[in-house]
Amino acid sequence: MRKLILFDIDGTLVLTGGAGLRAMNRACADIAGNAEALSGIPVAGRTDRVILADVVSRLGRTLDDRLLDHLRERYLVHLREEIELPGRGVKAVMPGVRGLLDALARRDDVFLGLLTGNFEEGARLKLEHFDLWRYFRCGAFADDAADRNALVPFAWERARRLGLPELAAQHTLVVGDTPHDIACAREVGAMAVGVATGGFTSAELHDSGADVVFEDLNDRERFLELLDR
Ligand SMILES: [Mg+2]
Repeated sequence: MRKLILFDIDGTLVLTGGAGLRAMNRACADIAGNAEALSGIPVAGRTDRVILADVVSRLGRTLDDRLLDHLRERYLVHLREEIELPGRGVKAVMPGVRGLLDALARRDDVFLGLLTGNFEEGARLKLEHFDLWRYFRCGAFADDAADRNALVPFAWERARRLGLPELAAQHTLVVGDTPHDIACAREVGAMAVGVATGGFTSAELHDSGADVVFEDLNDRERFLELLDR
């Protein structure tokens, strides 16, 4: 039986030095003239769609499809530029990620995908910058649903269409750095794998219901052992 491993992006695979946040603020500024529209709005582990809905609601508007399309288009224009800048804070591939992805990509019992609050095109821009996009064959994104807990079935459907048969929840691993990642795995009965490289500690990820937690993804052997469970 093959395993589907779904990785979160921000704080799990990479940190973009704030490029995503800056691009989102600039997109909001394009429509509302407010340069710090995201100030005070929680972003970690939430979908871009929910974040934008919060911003727009604070501006007294509703995020309908037309406004969403417009904001997404502006966001992607800005992200293309921002991702190339040095940025603030850490801009890097998280420890152990490249080695682990190489090891997983060599196995024929593993199918790699993404489970992220990013829009699909935003995910591609971020990961291509670090030469990581090529590892992933399918995914579920903020374009699919606003609610992260609804995302895993979208990844299943895409994996099925790409030839991964009879996927059961217990053969799916969701890997992420926030309690939101843990929750969306538990929502469907997938294995919830926490990684404490984002804004949450190992203890917090355990407390939120993670089946297993890693300090970072350097512990490749222990991660590969999960595949035999
Ligand atoms: Mg994250």
